[in-house]
Amino acid sequence: MRVRYEGGILVQDLLKEVILDPVRKTPGSVVSHGHMDHLTSGGIMTPETLDVLKIRRGGSGRSLPYGKEIEHNGFRIVLKDAGHVFGSAMIRVDDFLYTGDFNPEGGATCGKARPEFVEGLIVDATYGRPGYNFPPKKDVEADLLNWLEMELANGPVALAGYEFGKSQELIALVNRLGVEVAVSTRSRTLPMSMSGTESTCSTVDCPRFPRPSEKIPVPTSSPPDGSDRLSTTRCPGSVRSASGPRM
Ligand SMILES: [Zn+2]
Repeated sequence: MRVRYEGGILVQDLLKEVILDPVRKTPGSVVSHGHMDHLTSGGIMTPETLDVLKIRRGGSGRSLPYGKEIEHNGFRIVLKDAGHVFGSAMIRVDDFLYTGDFNPEGGATCGKARPEFVEGLIVDATYGRPGYNFPPKKDVEADLLNWLEMELANGPVALAGYEFGKSQELIALVNRLGVEVAVSTRSRTLPMSMSGTESTCSTVDCPRFPRPSEKIPVPTSSPPDGSDRLSTTRCPGSVRSASGPRM
């Protein structure tokens, strides 16, 4: 089997070939997840990523659930949970694995990446250099929640995160404080969580799609860095839903 980069991860074996995460719409490709640097239409992807595709780029693709093996262009293709964002997948092509972006710790809106026995591996190593040595995720989350508790005593707080992935993780995290979360209109159109984690946004009236609170002005445009903002406010007493006009 031969692998090279050619507008995507091109896997070839004799006369067979398949391209993974192509940079442009490619019928018959395989797409790992819904971040814009990986997402194109026309390919095979998880049903969750297909939902994200329809919202973020439009177009269509072929749905393939996690763990279901199909034969495609002469290869055996299986998608495995990458633990990166809602619907993200590692792509197994015969005994070769392309991880895409992956996370063995997982998150509130997805499962986690698990080891695979393979003959060949391509890792999407955005932070692969030894200089990148991040603290444990649970420590960062605890620090953020402690900081947020202090800041909320003085009024609403705005948090920034990419509109797909980071924002939903932040919503789930902030919900642990029993805090009502207001999100931008665009963020609330994106799928929130996998089944079993819907309770993470129960403070905002909808089990899957968070809605903005009527109390907090929600920015209508993204900040210059391309991230999206969440506003939070203390919800006294028990968790409650927002009421009044919706945006
Ligand atoms: Zn990604």
